Amino acid sequence: MAEPVDWRADGIPRSARFDDIYHTESGAPAQASHVFLGGCGLPGAWVGQSKWRILETGFGFGLNFLTTWQAWRAHPQRPRLLHFVSIEAFPVSRDDLLRAAAGYPDLFGLAESLAAQWHGLLPGFHRLSFDEGRVLLTLCIGDVQAMLRAQRFEADSIFLDGFSPQRNPAMWSSETLKAVSRFARRGTRVATWTIARAVCDALAQNGFQVTKAPGLPPKRDCLQGVFEPAWQVRRRGPVPLPAAEAGRCVVVGAGLAGAAVAASLARRGWEVDVLEAAERPATGASGLPVGMLAPHVSPDDALLSRLTRAGIRATWQQLEQLLAEGEDWRATGVLERRATGDDRLPGEWIADGPNESWHASLPQLGEAGLPPDAVALWHARGAWVRPSRLIAAWLALPGIRVRARCRVARIERIEHIDGKGKRWVVRDANGAMLAEADRIVIAGGMESHALAPEFPLQAVRGQVEWGLMPAGARLPATPINGDGHLIAHVPTAEGRLWLVGATFDRDSNDVAPRASDTEFNRGRLNRLHPDAAALLAPAFARGETRAWVGIRCASGDRRPLVGPLSSGSADGVWLCTALGSRGLSFAVLCAELLAARWHHEPLPLPAKLAQALDARRAWPADEKAQRLASAM
Ligand code: SAM
Repeated sequence: MAEPVDWRADGIPRSARFDDIYHTESGAPAQASHVFLGGCGLPGAWVGQSKWRILETGFGFGLNFLTTWQAWRAHPQRPRLLHFVSIEAFPVSRDDLLRAAAGYPDLFGLAESLAAQWHGLLPGFHRLSFDEGRVLLTLCIGDVQAMLRAQRFEADSIFLDGFSPQRNPAMWSSETLKAVSRFARRGTRVATWTIARAVCDALAQNGFQVTKAPGLPPKRDCLQGVFEPAWQVRRRGPVPLPAAEAGRCVVVGAGLAGAAVAASLARRGWEVDVLEAAERPATGASGLPVGMLAPHVSPDDALLSRLTRAGIRATWQQLEQLLAEGEDWRATGVLERRATGDDRLPGEWIADGPNESWHASLPQLGEAGLPPDAVALWHARGAWVRPSRLIAAWLALPGIRVRARCRVARIERIEHIDGKGKRWVVRDANGAMLAEADRIVIAGGMESHALAPEFPLQAVRGQVEWGLMPAGARLPATPINGDGHLIAHVPTAEGRLWLVGATFDRDSNDVAPRASDTEFNRGRLNRLHPDAAALLAPAFARGETRAWVGIRCASGDRRPLVGPLSSGSADGVWLCTALGSRGLSFAVLCAELLAARWHHEPLPLPAKLAQALDARRAWPADEKAQRLASAM
């Protein structure tokens, strides 16, 4: 449930939990500009930088964020990317968020964009994306100490907020401020409105040189500081490789993984060549006529559940930004049939959220044409998507060039004779050079195996059946998932499409359709949705249905592999593959994770979840031993 807010008669929001007001009477944006932006030397400090990373404690109504975003928009020399990472234990409701911004016409439009993505805020990290992905807000929902432990990046500015130190001492404790100081590099500036002695002392003890500055009336003072410790800063863990500068990158493979990586890198200023072995993009497993997007849920909110939720949020933003709803994708929600007893949700999930999956209601079952005693979950963040449309939209972004019929057989490192340093080249099977780049990303599904033979990749064959909907057919409007899945009402040039599938056939590379798989898919449809099976039976009997086969690529533990190919090539050749049958859920998340690691940006996921996708877990044992040399 959202945090309740007391609205005082003068319009100032107050927290009953902390017995304190959220903002001063002088107005939150004025405070944000004077105390926080001004205290950190912004916007001037970001001139000439490719990115700017801000850490804030206490998101509240996001007015500091909105003011910063507005300043970024207005600044002619803004950095290409603005990262704002904020920690909040008690998120307010969407209505309160809008109400707080209602008094500030300059910010209200931005607040509406924020409110549109203000959903599903369960404990953990949530990456919100604005202005074509150039303003990235990472909301870390949870207690400040735990969230600081889970996040890792070098902040350029730090905003300390979070009610008064008297009312909320935990937010300002020396432990919290010590944890905050771990985000500072030499020169990072910190700002806050309080000049409480304990805060000044703790900041000073942790390496900040602090000074009092004139406050925003009626406050006399505010606090500014710069991280300049008198000692040599040593961070725990291995020394990270230097952050990458945007240059030229070759991405091998134009499926969901490769196209998403290309888009994430192009957004950061890279010139990207996407090399595809086939005739055109989206021909491998990503060539599925239509796919389903639905989160994994489990009673213990297992790793996969948390990963798919983060992934779907990332994909959803791209769908909204780049595709036409109703044609390329549709936010239908998804109904998932479960076996009796297998429909448990985490105990703390409640009917009005922030979770976005619930037990399906009787009307939902009825509308989907299922019996009232069917056991099912309803995923509000569920959709059908045409993967080829998403891939095409990504590949059309500025900075990306696609070259089809280019099969990469070898990757080599060469030294430039003109002293320009080392470059990577990719060659075809005859040794001819296809392209040259600063970095390479292998995202070729099962084809990645030829370039990364040491990784244990597994082929998983999948067959689906599809056809055009008979006139007047009453197939369910929302996709049904369970043992197999059914999607219908997908508009195409030929008519409305339905699709059922998919099989899951390990270690098979055979792309020829099999009649036995068609029967298997029909049998499952019969159990999943008997009415739909009866309706489509004549089409199957007349041979009017079509089969499509794709070979997915999976890792040993079924999670994607994102990371360096080996310790020796950590600053050059990376892998982003093994998305299995969850390409729609994972492609954007993996691409953003790769880009964040290359550029030392805040991670879109808590460190442990990011680790669960790290390709280094699948390195051969002798490589793992070298791992210390390449922390990224
Ligand atoms: N920066 C905000 C803005 O621009 O609107 C205002 C922040 S408000 C004064 C302080 C916020 O800190 C509240 O939303 C509160 O819920 C949050 N907070 C307080 N204690 C916290 C804790 N221990 N961990 C995380 N967040 C906390």
